[in-house]
Amino acid sequence: MPGMKELARRYRVADGEAFHLADVEPGDRGGIRSKQKAAAALAAGIGRLAEMQEKLYAQDRWALLVILQAMDAAGKDGTIKHVMSGVNPQGCEVTSFKVPSPEELDHDFLWRSSRRLPARGRIGIFNRSYYEEVLVVRVHPELLERQRLSPELVGPRIWKERYEDINAFERRLARNGTRILKFFLHESRDEQRRRFMARLDTPEKNWKFSNADVAERQHWDAYMAAAEEMIRHTATRHAPWHVVPADHKWFTHLVVGETIVAALEDLHPAFPTLDKERGKELKKARATLAAEE
Ligand code: ATP
Ligand code: MG
Repeated sequence: MPGMKELARRYRVADGEAFHLADVEPGDRGGIRSKQKAAAALAAGIGRLAEMQEKLYAQDRWALLVILQAMDAAGKDGTIKHVMSGVNPQGCEVTSFKVPSPEELDHDFLWRSSRRLPARGRIGIFNRSYYEEVLVVRVHPELLERQRLSPELVGPRIWKERYEDINAFERRLARNGTRILKFFLHESRDEQRRRFMARLDTPEKNWKFSNADVAERQHWDAYMAAAEEMIRHTATRHAPWHVVPADHKWFTHLVVGETIVAALEDLHPAFPTLDKERGKELKKARATLAAEE
């Protein structure tokens, strides 16, 4: 089994220029043969994550923003459920971004995300994000029309401008203490078909099925092209993408978990230590309580 640090690094894209989506194989399992070993490693990772989150919160110095993008049924929900299963809900917030509301459409495209950013000490998870703006909106230009932008603002450079705005937004966050981790869960078209079929064939999964998902699937190639270009333009050192094979759910969970653990370790979260003054105060408080006995 490869080392966990190496696993976290393997799928990282910190400089997008030469990135090709075709270089990442959705069925890749990183050379791991034993699912049991992977499960044990994930469990250990989840424990580490919970420990470090507590320190992150106590230290109140850094925030962590985790962004998940993927095609339907690539496993975003399951990844969040598994990887974050050990963390204290008080220090963590998940936001799922749906089709924008009329109010949201009347603001610039980053507005609704800005309101959900994690505060210092917290972990914020975006289940979809402002990246939909260069994915679904790019594949369906009529969605851009709903934003009522004046025609002189929507030129042929519109997508380049979106990338620029996103990069500037993320740089600002990074410079102010937010670590950003972006994941693109890369599933194959065939695996998506199998998962949709399972949603149709299993009564407990029926609720997850939507006709619209099958319609979106017809635009697969356009989505892949948009995803590749998105990664090429927005993978940076301060906000790297991780393109994670997603045809094996257990493997996706392991890679995402280890990547988050590695990022947290890099922040060296630690419980704050007391200065002398504060130490004296605590001693005093203790003496007061002891005297009550
Ligand atoms: P699940 O994976 O469980 O189906 P979901 O994230 O797909 O969850 P849905 O309510 O099915 O949730 O879909 C949300 C939809 O909102 C997606 O089709 C997504 O493309 C769309 N969406 C998100 N952000 C935007 C945006 N900025 N502009 C247009 N559509 C958006
Ligand atoms: Mg959906």
